This record gives sequence, structure tokens and C-alpha cells, in this order.
Amino acid sequence: MRIRTGDTVMIIAGKEKGKTGRVEKRFLEQDRVIVEGVNFVTKHMKGQPGVRQAGRIQKEAPIHASNVVLICNKCNAPTKPKTTFLETGSRVRSCIKCQEVIDDAR
Ligand SMILES: [Zn+2]
Repeated sequence: MRIRTGDTVMIIAGKEKGKTGRVEKRFLEQDRVIVEGVNFVTKHMKGQPGVRQAGRIQKEAPIHASNVVLICNKCNAPTKPKTTFLETGSRVRSCIKCQEVIDDAR
């Protein structure tokens, strides 16, 4: 998966298309991500002993990683990250358009 936790992404498919948000969580096995504030679903929780929250709660549902793209903080536009090496020898992800360094590649 190219997307990482903390990345700002745009949704490119489905009912939330065009929305942007920060990646809160990744589910590597399912290749899905939770994007903050996007793709809310209403879950109906049964009142059970020991469970305080009952009734309807709003919760972000995971989105498939192929339906989101990374947004460059500088261009403010969808981009593909490329891995480059700095003079210091460290590997970073950078924007293919403006060369802005997005973060350290791990
Ligand atoms: Zn850029």
C-alpha cells in the first residue's frame, strides 16, 4: 500500500468522491484505510450489559486503498509519491510534480 497513516488523501471513487481527509488507520490485510471525517456509516448498537453506548452511532467505514490518492501539501492536488535519495543518504517520498518532500520513506 502506498498510503500511510497521517497522509492527506482524496477520495476518487464512490459516494465520497472528491472529499479529502487524513488517514487515521490502515488495514493492511484488507488493503483499506480509515479516512478522518469521510465515509460515515450509521451503526446500530444494541444495548447490552457493560456496553454504555447503545442506539445509533456514526462511524467512519474503511475505504479501499485503490479509491484514494495522496494529496501533496504544496500543490494541494492529487499526486503520486516517488522515492528519492537525499544528499544525506536518507530515503524520502516526494511529489512527482513539485518535488516537495512528503516524508521519510520507511
Ligand atoms: Zn507537489
